[in-house]
Amino acid sequence: MRAQRERDTHYEQELRRELHGRGYRFRIHQRVPGSRREIDIAFPRAKVAVFVDGCFWHWCPEHGTLPKANRSWWAEKLDQNRRRDRDTDRRLAEIGWMPIRIWEHMGLSDAAERIAGFLS
Ligand SMILES: [Zn+2]
Repeated sequence: MRAQRERDTHYEQELRRELHGRGYRFRIHQRVPGSRREIDIAFPRAKVAVFVDGCFWHWCPEHGTLPKANRSWWAEKLDQNRRRDRDTDRRLAEIGWMPIRIWEHMGLSDAAERIAGFLS
């Protein structure tokens, strides 16, 4: 199992295609100010930052699991990811951006609708 978060997952690419098809334009891999983290899909004018969160790495309440081996290491690691996500959201909110988190288990059109709701 990879220890790194995946970049440009299939879901992310599909979601970008979906948004693009609806006429939305955005930037990818934009830095979160003051950090090395990146916004998956950024809408600078609307100040909306979309993150696509994988169910495993971000410990989705519905599908998050802990591997049986090295359980406490994983619990610590995944909890750290969750804390980092909250910290990222807070940093963005402080500069007036709206962080939106999309679970990769969401249907693409539901996800696009949700994002669109923050853009109009
Ligand atoms: Zn999930």
